[in-house]
Amino acid sequence: MTTRVPLIGITAHASLVADGAGVEVLHYVAPVAYVKAIRKAGGVPVLLPMGSADDAMAGLARVDAVLVTGGDDVNPDRYRAEPAPETKAADPARDDFEIALISAAVRDDRPMLCICRGIQVLNVALGGTLQQHYDGHFDLPNYNEGIHDVKLEPGSMLAKVMGATQVAVNSLHHQALDVLASQLVAVGHSDDGLVEGVEVLGCGFALGVQWHPELLRHRPEHLALFEALVAAGA
Ligand code: MN
Repeated sequence: MTTRVPLIGITAHASLVADGAGVEVLHYVAPVAYVKAIRKAGGVPVLLPMGSADDAMAGLARVDAVLVTGGDDVNPDRYRAEPAPETKAADPARDDFEIALISAAVRDDRPMLCICRGIQVLNVALGGTLQQHYDGHFDLPNYNEGIHDVKLEPGSMLAKVMGATQVAVNSLHHQALDVLASQLVAVGHSDDGLVEGVEVLGCGFALGVQWHPELLRHRPEHLALFEALVAAGA
């Protein structure tokens, strides 16, 4: 019997890309670092281009696990709030696709890792809200360094996977979770009190992190998140 390497679906959003003639054409894209992290963890990455809710279901049915990527802000109307001046809403179609994908993955107990914007969409998809702006958590020059600590709940899945109860993380977000969805459990906190790690109640492996472990994949404890996702999909 041959071993089947898990196929990990990575969400891909719409973005204008300049082609060879300098013409900007709409593409479905995902940052290279997510693909590299999945490969380094032993999985086969495949992009899930955004589309309708039916497209989300069709993609979800064919992959072994899902990775929800970072990006621009969730439109505040998705959590019944007026936009703050600092909010830079992403494509509403991206919100719709990812909310449909995440809702189905939770309902069907599929392995899932939600990163940065991903943890925010996860919270919104399950009924939570976001803080629309929070200072001190956007440090682009140190994108692949640990710049603040996150304390992990002892005994949580996140702590077990990372093999620690405190980890140093990068920070590339200006929004944060506010009211937590009832199906989420906060298992990681920054020293200034932000929720930076969550688990989904009733799911075997569904985690969200506010930092970018794909940019810290040179550190074993962060690569372990992707290894655990691949293992959960096996
Ligand atoms: Mn942070």
